[in-house]
Amino acid sequence: MMPTTDQNLALFERAAKVIPGGVNSPVRAFRAVGGTPRFITRAQGAYIWDANGQRYTDYIGSWGPMILGHGHPAVLEAVQKAVLEGFSYGAPTEREVELAEAILKLMPSMDMVRLVSSGTEAAMSTIRLARGATGRNKLIKFEGCYHGHADALLVKAGSGLATFGNPTSAGVPPEVVQHTVVLEYNNIEQLEAAFATQGHDIACLMMEPICGNMNFVRASIPFVKRCRELCTQYGALLVFDEVMTGFRVALGGAQSVYAKAIPGFEPDMTVMGKVIGGGMPLAAFGAKRAVMNHLAPLGTVYQAGTLSGNPVATACGLATLAEISRPGFYDELGRKTRALIDGLKAAASAEGVAFCGDSEGGMMGFYLLPELPQNYGQVMKTEGAKFNQLFHGLLDRGEYIAPALYEAGFVSQAHTDADIAQTVAAAREVFKLLQNK
Ligand SMILES: *Cc1c(COP(=O)(O)O)cnc(C)c1O
Repeated sequence: MMPTTDQNLALFERAAKVIPGGVNSPVRAFRAVGGTPRFITRAQGAYIWDANGQRYTDYIGSWGPMILGHGHPAVLEAVQKAVLEGFSYGAPTEREVELAEAILKLMPSMDMVRLVSSGTEAAMSTIRLARGATGRNKLIKFEGCYHGHADALLVKAGSGLATFGNPTSAGVPPEVVQHTVVLEYNNIEQLEAAFATQGHDIACLMMEPICGNMNFVRASIPFVKRCRELCTQYGALLVFDEVMTGFRVALGGAQSVYAKAIPGFEPDMTVMGKVIGGGMPLAAFGAKRAVMNHLAPLGTVYQAGTLSGNPVATACGLATLAEISRPGFYDELGRKTRALIDGLKAAASAEGVAFCGDSEGGMMGFYLLPELPQNYGQVMKTEGAKFNQLFHGLLDRGEYIAPALYEAGFVSQAHTDADIAQTVAAAREVFKLLQNK
């Protein structure tokens, strides 16, 4: 029976008194789309339930980790077994070795990995290691790419090329971001100009190869090729932030997708998170041995963590990796994700709504725009009000997509063709109602 009061609203009001904005990560607050965030009470397979008992088909999947859907029996069993053996020891375990070995087998660009607890921590540590290994300070990042909330990465472009970036958050001193060069994604000319003027000072270039933090924008093949060439030429390290794409777009991550188009392609360093923890706090970064040898206790770059390589998290990650390594897993996941995007495109077209979308493996994005954007500026041309109407229309119909137009979406193994057909039918109803389409 549905409660007579809105339990989500009651919880949100209670939360707002004790947690800033009522949430522990800003996008959850629904600020961009308005309305009351759903407080989730449980999840199973492709579905989540809110505090009112309302069920939703989940296309967020905890922002990427839940590639098997919620509560996969094999993962659940592995976690339950691990919990009985203890929560945390602060000492090495065999499962950490197993997980490192499993990751390195799937991503041969690395010889060694270090396990940490969040993508933010992994990206922050990667930058320190890149600086320590090269003896240089500068780093390149691209507008619209997100690499967690470390100080040096919360930057937007300055007024002109090759000027210093500006902090995007209060509390970040300008001195801390003075070494961060912010460029436009997919802009080869800007990239070449940046290397021509300061290439020998650049420690690393960090990029999301398929950017899921401005919805879904692929780095073009010529762009990735040029990033690789320039990094090699100038002795900078090419970092693929695969926290989202790793084990999500393909078993070998986005780097395996680009290696198909660019023979022999490899990044120098890789940042991982999300899927490798299967929903538990676990992330990692890795590189060739020559780079990783700089990390403490072998080298002089310090990095540490009380809960790093946590035995319950590694059990969850290992069980997840075992499931996604089964033959045909990504063929099936990719087929379903494409079916969803194709279905949404057809529904929008039938209702005369400007719409486009793209996907790779179990990661997807769509826009209320006629053509796929190539950079952050183009993504932001979407009309916010129209997106909000789509978001709430879908939410009211039990379809849970990201509450912001600059976020990617995710399909899991647990989503059925029937789930996808139902989502497409719901979207068609909402498209019909969209104002000034
Ligand atoms: C989510 C994400 C991060 C940050 O990971 P957290 O675990 O949220 O700290 C970093 N980089 C990318 C590409 C991400 O998608």
